[in-house]
Amino acid sequence: MPTPILVLNCGSSSVKYQMIDIDNEEVLASGMVEKIGLTDGNITHTTGGHKETIDETIADHTAALALVTRAFHTWGPPLEDVVAVGHRAVHGGERFRETTLINDDVIDGLTELSGLAPLHNPPGIAGIKAAQQALPNVPHVAIFDTAFFSTLPPEAYTYAIDREVAEKYHIRKYGFHGTSHSYVSKASAEFLGKNVEDVNQIICHMGNGASISAVRGGVAIETSMGLTPLAGLVMGTRSGDIDPGIFSYLQRVAGMDAQQVDNLLNKQSGMAGLADGASDFRDLWAKIDAGDANAAQAMDVYIHRLISYIGAYMAVLGRVDMIVFTAGVGENDNMTRARICDRLAGFGVKLDPAKNTPRNKDATEISAPDSSIAVLVVPTNEELAMARETYRVMN
Ligand code: AMP
Repeated sequence: MPTPILVLNCGSSSVKYQMIDIDNEEVLASGMVEKIGLTDGNITHTTGGHKETIDETIADHTAALALVTRAFHTWGPPLEDVVAVGHRAVHGGERFRETTLINDDVIDGLTELSGLAPLHNPPGIAGIKAAQQALPNVPHVAIFDTAFFSTLPPEAYTYAIDREVAEKYHIRKYGFHGTSHSYVSKASAEFLGKNVEDVNQIICHMGNGASISAVRGGVAIETSMGLTPLAGLVMGTRSGDIDPGIFSYLQRVAGMDAQQVDNLLNKQSGMAGLADGASDFRDLWAKIDAGDANAAQAMDVYIHRLISYIGAYMAVLGRVDMIVFTAGVGENDNMTRARICDRLAGFGVKLDPAKNTPRNKDATEISAPDSSIAVLVVPTNEELAMARETYRVMN
């Protein structure tokens, strides 16, 4: 008998899910509901190597979860066997520092945090309520994107702004992508046959959203995202770090309001903003190959920002044993990895070009034997990390 855990990741217009047998960590089913709230919604459900699709209008998250339930009933495996549900919760604020069993009080706490994460927490809460209705008899657990970074020391999480204002409005660095950084930290140490307690790591989560962390002995001590997931590295459509003065400057000089500036920095910036709308690295390299100067400069800015962070985290950590690349760009884009490592040659970082191949499905060490720091590609697996966390907490 398998021990299936259902993990759910609810976005504003989508629900991604996996059913994982925690006994052997096998994926029993996976799927995604898209375009919630639109007329052309759909669900794709994959199990036993077969991919099935239903197209229909999906009004809200309750309807989305009803569709997920229907997909399991129609194509299996039986949803009745699920022993617990793990929910991705983006912002845990100051209250939720670790994976938490969900009850009404937790839902109230998440609702209070919606001001900090207006894009992410409300759909997460809607997903939790809908899933509780669909599966009322099993524990539901919240896994927080911020939890891994609750260990940041005060000098790292404190912004140098008026203390009273910061305390009143809970303004501090929280960090995001924590489930991925935590998973990759453990997996990369394990891959090299080391105890995570003994190594210092720099983890580069380079997806459409991107963040970097400094991890000492398995404990996060710095990260690039802040109060919100807008800070730090250059991302697909997000600016990452900018002079905070730009915000009021745009309001004063360009007549933008807060919402417009927020939109500009979150949706029309990053690689897309610099390279005429191209945010996907495959498109960016194609443009660069075709001689597009804007795309080439976007890549320069991306690399410059990233190596600036790596340099800073070398100083923060004092000693670095491994640099690890993960997520869509980090796992697939060997050209970007090569550009980054070339810039670190002065520190003795050296890639083995034969190992730095485009697609790395499995963890791979891509550095040369005489590299001063081991460089690895380790595919992230947030769903598996969530399933493990859910099982740990339900027990
Ligand atoms: P993620 O957010 O982790 O799913 O990463 C998505 C991003 O990964 C995409 O926007 C692309 O920029 C990048 N990506 C995915 N596949 C490739 C690939 N084969 N080569 C280069 N970049 C890729």
